[in-house]
Amino acid sequence: MTALRSNIHTHSTYADGRDAPEDMLRAALRLGFHTLGFSEHGRADYDDCAMPADVEPLYRADILRLKAKYAGRIDVLLGYEHDWLSPPTPDRYDYIIESVHYLRAGGGFVCVDDTRDILTDAIDKHFGGDPYAMCREYFRTVAESCQSGAQVLGHMDLVMKFNERRDLFDDADSRYLKCALEAADAAADSGMLIEINTGAIARGYRTQPYPGPAILRRLAERGARIVVTSDCHNSDYLDCGFADAAALARGCGFRTAWQYRGAQLEEYPLEDIVNG
Ligand SMILES: [Zn+2]
Ligand SMILES: [Zn+2]
Repeated sequence: MTALRSNIHTHSTYADGRDAPEDMLRAALRLGFHTLGFSEHGRADYDDCAMPADVEPLYRADILRLKAKYAGRIDVLLGYEHDWLSPPTPDRYDYIIESVHYLRAGGGFVCVDDTRDILTDAIDKHFGGDPYAMCREYFRTVAESCQSGAQVLGHMDLVMKFNERRDLFDDADSRYLKCALEAADAAADSGMLIEINTGAIARGYRTQPYPGPAILRRLAERGARIVVTSDCHNSDYLDCGFADAAALARGCGFRTAWQYRGAQLEEYPLEDIVNG
């Protein structure tokens, strides 16, 4: 039995993370990681959390410096989390995580994962008070983002961030499931790695990873490939919830998942992931 010792979804001081990349790397080494990928929020003019355009070259240079400095001890990957509605991704990254954090609404952009009030205001203002209409637009955007050519699809039901108690809408309702499963089909057809993302657990928003079981079951039926990540914004949570994520995936029909070992993708049995 071995634990999962890699993570390709991490944020640092170049955007909205707490720790500098080198501090994250030292923590990864303490955990015995073989691979750590940095995936800073790429430039998006409507998003205060994203890297400004003039910071992106500094981020690149720093991660490439660390890649060289730590070669032979841990594989460092230069990644980038791209918001689907933002400008095209620059080339020359080891991988891209394609994520939908924003919707087009009311002639502007509305964030689905900033605060619960922002989300409920947006539902009232732009979707006639109908949360399922908002979900429809969200998953339509996710399905569209599966054409991006990115390697990884991020937290594909992020719209559930503030709804674990199902008090905004019911994710078992057919109005939700129809569009969520259509997005799952688009994701599976794309061949992208699809995240099981534990980020909201470390941040105290949720007790379960993204995406939920109905989506995971559909992805498993469709033969999709999954990657477990923690989307961590500080070095204390590099491997947060990995064993629970693996158990959830197994319960939904997956037997294996994928990870980066350096630049190579490797399939491994989920039953191998244990805490510690
Ligand atoms: Zn994200
Ligand atoms: Zn992220």
